Amino acid sequence: MSEVLYISVILPLRLEWEPCYAVAKEVKIEVGDRVKVRFGAKEYVGVVSAVDITPEIAPERILPVVSIETDLEKTYQEEIRLWRYIAEYYMCSIGEVYKAAYPAMKVTLEEARAAALKTSRERREKIIRSMEGRVAKIEERLAKKEEQLRKAKEGTKKKFALEEGVGKIRMELETAKAALEAARAGKAAPEGEVSDMNGNANEQGARLTLSQAQEKAYSEIKAGFAKAKPVMLHGVTGSGKTEIYIRLAQEAISKGKNVLYLVPEIALSRQLEDRLEEHFGESLLVFHSGITAAGRRNTAECIRNSRDGYITLGTRSALFLPHHDIGLIIVDEEHDSSYKQDSPAPRYNGRDTALMLSQIQGSDIILGSATPSLEEAYNCECGKHILVELKERYHGSEDSDIEIIDTKAERKKRGMVGSFSRKLIEHIKKTLAEGGQVMILRSRRAWAPALQCEECGELAKCPHCNVSMSLHRSGDMICHYCGHRMRHTGTCQKCNGPLKPLGAGTQKIEEEAAALFPEARVARLDSDTAQNKGYETKTIKAFAKGEIDILVGTQILTKGFDFSRLSLVAVIAADTLLGMQDFRADEKALQLLEQFRGRCGRRGSKGMFVIQTSQPEHPIYQKLINKEEDPQNSTLLLERKAFNFPPYSRIIEITIRDRYEDRAERMARSLADILKRHFGMRPGALALPGSPVTGPYAPAVGKVADQHIRCIRISLRKDRQLKAGKQAVADIVRKFENDGKYADHIVIDVDPA
Ligand code: ADP
Ligand code: ZN
Repeated sequence: MSEVLYISVILPLRLEWEPCYAVAKEVKIEVGDRVKVRFGAKEYVGVVSAVDITPEIAPERILPVVSIETDLEKTYQEEIRLWRYIAEYYMCSIGEVYKAAYPAMKVTLEEARAAALKTSRERREKIIRSMEGRVAKIEERLAKKEEQLRKAKEGTKKKFALEEGVGKIRMELETAKAALEAARAGKAAPEGEVSDMNGNANEQGARLTLSQAQEKAYSEIKAGFAKAKPVMLHGVTGSGKTEIYIRLAQEAISKGKNVLYLVPEIALSRQLEDRLEEHFGESLLVFHSGITAAGRRNTAECIRNSRDGYITLGTRSALFLPHHDIGLIIVDEEHDSSYKQDSPAPRYNGRDTALMLSQIQGSDIILGSATPSLEEAYNCECGKHILVELKERYHGSEDSDIEIIDTKAERKKRGMVGSFSRKLIEHIKKTLAEGGQVMILRSRRAWAPALQCEECGELAKCPHCNVSMSLHRSGDMICHYCGHRMRHTGTCQKCNGPLKPLGAGTQKIEEEAAALFPEARVARLDSDTAQNKGYETKTIKAFAKGEIDILVGTQILTKGFDFSRLSLVAVIAADTLLGMQDFRADEKALQLLEQFRGRCGRRGSKGMFVIQTSQPEHPIYQKLINKEEDPQNSTLLLERKAFNFPPYSRIIEITIRDRYEDRAERMARSLADILKRHFGMRPGALALPGSPVTGPYAPAVGKVADQHIRCIRISLRKDRQLKAGKQAVADIVRKFENDGKYADHIVIDVDPA
């Protein structure tokens, strides 16, 4: 090579640096270009992160680029900036972030194009169906109003108003019909000419009339945006937050800007899809791991190339799409811990990453929840974010009544029938008799969550994990941690005594409910039933239509659904929600109970919330009953402040995994000692509350899939030293890994969930 230029490249590897390569000077190359290079014995496709750099190693050791991948799309500089932010904040390598953003390019462009055509056809048909539904709904509304008009007295104010109303609906109907006609005509048009449908679908989205409370919240939100601050919308379920998001999104799109709408999980995305499609038609793009790779690629390409405003609905992975010109980001259910990625790196939180993205894009951002996270409450308290409250429910119903049933006391009084108290049975009977629906939450799936030997008292444990096996209706014993499965022989492995099932999981509750209420139609929803694809959506639809009377399930039940006839929600054995040994336990339990409570009584009527527990005196129930309205002054937040827990400090959790328990212990101890020394503690010192370094300790489940686990927690004050503290931890851990060749055993998690 005569004259060369040096570039640095981001590779999909866990590397601390961005390797340098050479290209001929006359070649046109820019930051963001994709290149194929050799690294070690392999070739990788990477992203050019800098051009014309001064290499740090001798020029003769620098390899030339294998090829410039002009067929692959360029990466936007904003994407690379987001990756850098994430790598720094979550203490991982930029290569790991790149790998998450561009998961293996298996799908060829040809495949993607074919899929794009197919998706757009399916999409179009779906839109037509939803438009037909809309026309039917408007016709219904029109008929009602016309009926009222007929009955109204001549010459009254009311009559006049009704006349005006009928006129408006007629116009709305006409527009909707015209849009439907156009869409139908578009159906016959050749593939590829989707663009003219676009406009129609956009216009078709009706502009909403917001309620007074919504209008007020809306203007406060706009005022927050005007100050260039993120807004936290706190509003009970059913208060109409989603409708406000829709209005804000419509505005951004009408200005030609793009919108990113994040939800914590796929189930929520599926529920919102139809609702958003009605408003945004073909401008709606969907992105989550439930979509085929080709479909995802198609969405990515639409976003990259789009010039009109669009809205992308997706889970946290949608943050890595080739975004540009974002005007608004919506983070729905911001408190949900599903926003956090556990594994692999980057272990990022979608909510906080969305905040980073909004900074990079210079966009507005709104976070919403009925139960704001303490992180958000804190951000509002210290003025970084603007808190907007939406207190009333749109349909005007009140919070449901709460009844707490003490199962220990009931058992003594013979007031229990299996897992159900007689009091709860009465509530359910009454609800069913009134034509209402019931949801029952039990946080353990399977038939029995544990098995115990009647002779020696030993629990049946997983051979690979330190947890009890669950008994499933199929007769299999399954480990819920590693999936290990074995046939239930009925005898103890230690003494051959008889094994007795302990407790009741969702499967058994479902059976008990079916036996107690023989007339009722009972169904179950948990991650076992969800394995059957489509079952979840089908069950939810059936429940919404009133084809199921009692729905039993795990935490899945607490998320987002809107059922008009649901009037009783009950928790069985709520104690398992409280059992977690973690400073976040109360916050999480309270959020879960509140979310679940919010499921019922959504349409005008007051609902009922029954909690069965053996610890009725637990403070969490008092907190639930004396609901604190202001998240910024909640007792939970004050407690965190008193103990200097997050959000008042930042926690970094280091996890060590090893096949050999003694080595896990030894390595964890020596790493902890180095960290302690760095932060001015005596090595081996007992950590007190407030110490910067605690551990090593074995977590509640200390062995999973044959790996012994030890944890170390570092708690850093949020002051000027924070950045340096984090950097020191990163350096210490990296050095420890390298010195001991121990890299595959250690995981760093910033802001663990
Ligand atoms: P949230 O997102 O806060 O749970 P939603 O936006 O889902 O609340 O609103 C609850 C119910 O009220 C929904 O059925 C929604 O269609 C209805 N609703 C809310 N706002 C409006 C509005 N401005 N006009 C008509 N219906 C509304
Ligand atoms: Zn196991």
